[in-house]
Amino acid sequence: MFVKYEIFGLSIWFWIFIILLNGIIFGSFCSNLADKKGYSSGTWFAGGFFFGIIALIAIAGLPVKWEEFNNLKECPDCREMINIYANVCKYCGYRFTKEEQQEALQKVLSIFLCKFILLLSPSSFYRKVDFFALSLLD
Ligand SMILES: [Zn+2]
Repeated sequence: MFVKYEIFGLSIWFWIFIILLNGIIFGSFCSNLADKKGYSSGTWFAGGFFFGIIALIAIAGLPVKWEEFNNLKECPDCREMINIYANVCKYCGYRFTKEEQQEALQKVLSIFLCKFILLLSPSSFYRKVDFFALSLLD
């Protein structure tokens, strides 16, 4: 006997399509955000695909991965991210001026100070959001 599956008067294929579309949209949002914050974009695509808005809230609440982020600077010539202490760009051979080197080192110092302040303040914004996201996942 042929059974025609319908949910709310619409064929099952329509709902499968909606679920897949929803997964792809949330997955790409999550992977985009994860990539910007220094987390694995593939893992977070899967997270967004299966958990939708919950994964999106979770990645939005996670702080930027400072360890990976603060050791990089952007080459003004080719826009590649390279080691912050480098004098020469490994991609295009651009030579950094003394001023640019100093700027980069100031960035390291300011990020270090930000991290220090964040660590010292227990009620910092990031921790609150982080806790909220984790309690949602629980
Ligand atoms: Zn370069």
